[in-house]
Amino acid sequence: MTSQNYHLVIVGYGGMGSYHAKHLLKGNQNIEVSGTYDISEDRRTASMADGYKTYESLAAVLSDDAVDFVLIATPNDVHKDIAIAALNAGKHVICEKPVTIYSADLVEIMETAKINDRAFIVHQNRRWDEDFLTMKKIYDEQIIGDVFHIESRVQGANGIPGDWRHLKEYGGGMLLDWGVHLLDQLLFMIDSKITSVYANFSYILGDDVDDGFQVFITFENGITSLVEVGTTNFIQLPRWYTKGTKGTAVIHDWDINGKIVTQNSGEVEAPKPIKAGQGLTKTMAPPSEKAVSTSDLPKVVKTMESFYENVVSVVEGSAEPIVKNEEVLRVLRLMETIFKSAETNQVIQDFDLVPAKN
Ligand code: NAD
Repeated sequence: MTSQNYHLVIVGYGGMGSYHAKHLLKGNQNIEVSGTYDISEDRRTASMADGYKTYESLAAVLSDDAVDFVLIATPNDVHKDIAIAALNAGKHVICEKPVTIYSADLVEIMETAKINDRAFIVHQNRRWDEDFLTMKKIYDEQIIGDVFHIESRVQGANGIPGDWRHLKEYGGGMLLDWGVHLLDQLLFMIDSKITSVYANFSYILGDDVDDGFQVFITFENGITSLVEVGTTNFIQLPRWYTKGTKGTAVIHDWDINGKIVTQNSGEVEAPKPIKAGQGLTKTMAPPSEKAVSTSDLPKVVKTMESFYENVVSVVEGSAEPIVKNEEVLRVLRLMETIFKSAETNQVIQDFDLVPAKN
């Protein structure tokens, strides 16, 4: 069956809205960007300069029968109202992350999508990131044995970017901005209930919102994880550091530099004690040459449809969404738990949700 041609209007033609138009949807065989709507005069001018029709109001977008999809790429606080209005107008909706600030708002959107029998799909695009897929392959295929600890970090030195990201009322802050990606990846990878959450936030830059955080998550299957975002890190730690029963994997960056070191089987020479600082240690001495092997990171081969291929398959009824709303809801609830943990300085153990995946 050949897919039909769909018309999509971008609401919020800022950084990410225009990135969808110029990169993610450029040359798409099935979805055509047929216009944009932005409250800013400057962005309407930019849209016209880029060759896209501009609508004068959201109502004008929603009353246009030629529009099949609305893509929401506004600041986070208005995602909900735009999504509900678009779904009630009979449009399919794609929404940028974080889908909403509060989980109750996503529940309302999901109910509205169901009533109107329209697709509502969140752009959790970092499920397709190669660094993540490489670590997921190491995890799934037990390349370093059974994984028991995962550290996932992004660290910058440029502070919080832009304007609205500094403000609470717009849904600013780094947990909602970057945290949502890292947590989404972690929960997509680990199919186990969360048994405890402990978090702390940093406010180094003096904003109302967090400019970084650390969260420690323990899963029922015994895996521990540390997820960290920073915006004042002038030296960066690796993007991923993962320990398994047979080895350790590190991915330094988005260019997938890194390595795997695994333990060799059989009898190996014991490590020789080394002088370390003012002392002597065997425990912290490097393993003997024959005790370990170093290998390259595995290559990831495409196993799932791209985000927009999947969007088309979902509306045509030939596939399930790769980003399921129930999974997105679980991540939102986890972020609410992280805020609670940081505010109360408590380990939270009643994060009792249904498993993310069947
Ligand atoms: P931005 O400030 O560059 O753009 C937002 C645009 O929305 C602005 O042009 C603004 O005028 C417009 N706008 C504000 N309120 C509006 C309304 N009610 N109706 C119509 N237009 C409105 O911000 P951005 O960086 O593009 O972020 C937009 C969204 O995209 C956010 O939700 C953000 O989290 C998300 N985002 C996602 C990724 C990703 O990788 N998935 C990356 C960056 C941003």
